[in-house]
Amino acid sequence: MPEDLVAIDGIILPGGESTTISMLLESSGTFEPLSELLSHGLPAFGTCAGMILLSNEVLDGRNDQRSFDRIDIAVRRNAFGRQIASFEKQIDVRGLAEPFQAVFIRSPGVESVGPEVEVLATIELDKEIEIPVLCRQNNILVSSFHPELTDDLRLHQMFLSEL
Ligand code: GLN
Repeated sequence: MPEDLVAIDGIILPGGESTTISMLLESSGTFEPLSELLSHGLPAFGTCAGMILLSNEVLDGRNDQRSFDRIDIAVRRNAFGRQIASFEKQIDVRGLAEPFQAVFIRSPGVESVGPEVEVLATIELDKEIEIPVLCRQNNILVSSFHPELTDDLRLHQMFLSEL
């Protein structure tokens, strides 16, 4: 709700369904004030659907779904397949000493990345194509997987350390 935005230092946009989150943000009157805060530099961490909401371009989205345009990536919704194609994979993350167990559930796939974006982790799909799965642009961090579904807090700590 808009009143919950008062005095926050940062925000985590979690996984879920980006179309539904977008709709609820609008119907609760939260989209515009949050968009305003983000455009003035509010730090944000978006995981999965949250990544979609922060990205500049959404492919395979609904026509009426909105995003905050805070990170210069194009993401395709459900790029790794349906719920049944969910998977986990150990990934190497730039800046972390040990691999991270990444949980992918109907995750978005990053199809292009602008020059300002740092790619902190990728996964290799068939055909030896590397797909970015963790990206950062200034104080906006996005992952196509769900760090909140494990007990590993290192990515949350990475985000908090930048607040
Ligand atoms: N497929 C969902 C979407 O498009 C994201 C899935 C998730 O957050 N696990 O919003």
